[in-house]
Amino acid sequence: MTPYPIVAIPDPIARAVRATRRSPRYGHPATAEIATGYGPCRSCLRTFAVGAERRILFTYDAFEGLESLPLPGPVFIHETDCARYREDGGFPEDLREHALTFNAYSRGRRLRAQEYVGDGRVERAIEGLLAREDVDYLHVRDTEAGCYDFRIERARRG
Ligand SMILES: [Zn+2]
Repeated sequence: MTPYPIVAIPDPIARAVRATRRSPRYGHPATAEIATGYGPCRSCLRTFAVGAERRILFTYDAFEGLESLPLPGPVFIHETDCARYREDGGFPEDLREHALTFNAYSRGRRLRAQEYVGDGRVERAIEGLLAREDVDYLHVRDTEAGCYDFRIERARRG
């Protein structure tokens, strides 16, 4: 049981990218290639097998469906169908070994706080940020690449 939902990109986005080979909303060509980096796949939140698995690169607004102000950036998903990460799956273990940035936002896309975790001990950072009254959700980004990985929400009641 995880106290906070882990939100990967929605399935309709992944399906549209695979079917059209374009970035939803932006229309930029989405390119597929053998993985040259660990990723992760923003759907299943697993790291890519470098030099073996194929991935698609496309432009995605990490705030889509949540805020009116966008912040598009590059993300990867597996080229072929994969299972979206379960929201109740707890922190994705594949990501723990990488340096991560936790951006804490309030509604209106206002950045309230940031935590950097490089030793895999993510729980304390997450719980500390979600304990703040002015924080509504967290974005997790790769600290070195800067790219968006996934969102963490507050536990849903009821
Ligand atoms: Zn995947």
